[in-house]
Formats: sequence, C-alpha cells, structure tokens
Amino acid sequence: MSSTKKFLFIDRDGTLIEEPEDKQIDSLDKLTLIKNVIPALLQLKQAGYHFVMVSNQDGLGTESFPIENFEIAQRKLLEILISQGINFDDILICPHKPEENCECRKPKLGCVMRYMRERKFDLEYSYVIGDRKTDVQLAKNMGIKGIQIATSDFPDWNAVANFILKNSRTAKVSRKTKETEIIADIDLDKTDNIAISTGIGFFDHMLEQLAKHGGFNLSLSVKGDLEIDDHHTVEDAAIVIGEAMRKALGNKFGIGRYGFLLPMDEAQTKVALDLSGRAYTVFSGNFNRERVGELSTELVPHFFRSFADALQATLHIEVIGDNTHHMIESIFKGVGRTLRQAIQQSGFELPSTKGVL
Ligand SMILES: [Mg+2]
Ligand SMILES: [Zn+2]
Repeated sequence: MSSTKKFLFIDRDGTLIEEPEDKQIDSLDKLTLIKNVIPALLQLKQAGYHFVMVSNQDGLGTESFPIENFEIAQRKLLEILISQGINFDDILICPHKPEENCECRKPKLGCVMRYMRERKFDLEYSYVIGDRKTDVQLAKNMGIKGIQIATSDFPDWNAVANFILKNSRTAKVSRKTKETEIIADIDLDKTDNIAISTGIGFFDHMLEQLAKHGGFNLSLSVKGDLEIDDHHTVEDAAIVIGEAMRKALGNKFGIGRYGFLLPMDEAQTKVALDLSGRAYTVFSGNFNRERVGELSTELVPHFFRSFADALQATLHIEVIGDNTHHMIESIFKGVGRTLRQAIQQSGFELPSTKGVL
C-alpha cells in the first residue's frame, strides 16, 4: 500500500528563530525562538506531520562564519525543540554563498533532491514554510504549496498551524494487488463529493450511505476480479477506506467512544465504536438472503472487520430485522452516523490529560 507521509519543509532563520540584522546566528545571545513556534509545531506533529529543516547558511565554514559558531546556536536550538517533543527527520543546509552558484541553495532543489526522487512526501498535503520569497519558490519547484510567514495572510505560527490543520484531514491511499486495484481519496471535513465505483451496484450504494451519513468526502475506485466473485473487491475496499481514514485522522486516536442506534422500518442496527488504536470487531446478526443485488451478504461482516482492522478501531455491530436490504443499509448508515460523531474535530487544542493521543 502506498501511503506517503505529510511533510513540512521548514526554513530556520526568520521562521523558527529570529533573524538578526547581520543575518548570522553565531552565538547564543542571538538565539531567540519565534513566538508560538513550539505549540504550533506540536499541533502539527499531532496531526501526523513530519518536519525537515531546510536552510541556506551563506558562507558557512568560511572565516567569516566558522562552523563552530554556527553549531553553538544550532545545537541549542535543537536541544530546546527536542526537549519540547519536536524532532526533525532531517536537517538540510546549503553552506554556499549565492555567487558560488551551487545546486543546493534554495530555491534550487539540491538539498531536497532525495525527497523528490524517492517521492517520500505527499504532494497534496506537504508544505514549505519560510519567511522569504525563495522559500515559496522552493515550494513551487517541489510542486507543493508554500507558506510565507510574517505576511498579512500568515502573520504568525498560529495562522500557519490553523491553515494547515484545516486542510490536512485528508488522505489518499492506493493499493494494487493481483486481485484488485484501488484508489481512495478521503476528506474528513468536506461533504460535497462522494464518488464510488466498485463495479458492484449495491455495494456502491452502501458506501455512499457510509460517507453521506459519516459526513465526509470519499472517492473510491476499485477495479477488482469480479469475474471470480465479489470477495476481493469488498475486502480490499474495506482495507483501503480504513487505512485512508486512519491516515486522515493523523494521531488523534482514542478520542472517544461513540455509538448510534438506527432503525429502518422493521430493521434496527446498534453500533458502538472506539477509535482506540486497537482493532477489534464484534458482529451479531443473521441475514436470510445470500445476496442483495450483486453483493454477497456474508461479506458485510467481513467488510467491517477489515475496515476496523485498517482503521485500528474497536467496532461492535448488532443488527436485527427481516428484510436483508434494510438490515444492511441500516448498518452502513449507522456506522456512518457513528463515524460522523467520532471524527468530529472541535478546535485544535492539545489534549490536556495525556499530552498525546
Ligand atoms: Mg529565512
Ligand atoms: Zn549550496
């Protein structure tokens, strides 16, 4: 399964720390962190972001800017950040002067080339954050969005974090096996696009109910081995949807236990869900038909087991009724309604009791 990571490529001077007039942070008394940078980065970390520092340090290692002087401040900066729970996956520094015309000076791509080549980051939800136009240009060159801090759009780190977090509860997951080829795109905070195509009409209809009642966007395309049967298509769709939802939720597991009771004529479904980080499924109910449309009814419990495994959630479902179509539809709607409550985000505050979810 290819699910890329969300990265923030962050400039140092003027972005993480104040930039002095002489542009050289070569002693401890020139080291001042930018306001609110730590709480903002902690929120972004919690939302599943990885950090990479990308910095031009003109003439580093020359007589006018000895490496020891640079390291005094750099070491202290990293020490402060690590003590607060903020780690950089990578620190990429161009030590050249502009006139050297090197390949690694921002906005050129030399420093981040490895990330470009290995396609290690999610193009849609990764950002470059910096205080200069060259940082925004770097983002353009990388094919991602740039955020220029200390401007009217992004006056400070709070504005940066809010903007990214509002846009970040999304995920794209693709999976290709001998049996199926699947692409799923999920956005937990939008409700204007549900597009499902699995080749099984009734299953499409059920997944539409799941997303509609769940209050999230889902586009899903499955090309499965339906000439054999519907098993792989249903199972693999469940895995990919669960994985996409887990990824879109970031690190916000264990946020609560939710349930929903949903009647549909004579049928009734009870759902209980905990986004606990641990997968467990209990299903109780019997269908008196083998198929509804082209969907095998035995695959319904199987779908939710695979979904809960991939989502890493505890999911209990209990269904009663006479009409199999109603029973199945009430399950998908009921799970959708439960998800709607569970994925709800109110504000971006850090959890107060445990610190990390
Ligand atoms: Mg800068
Ligand atoms: Zn360079």
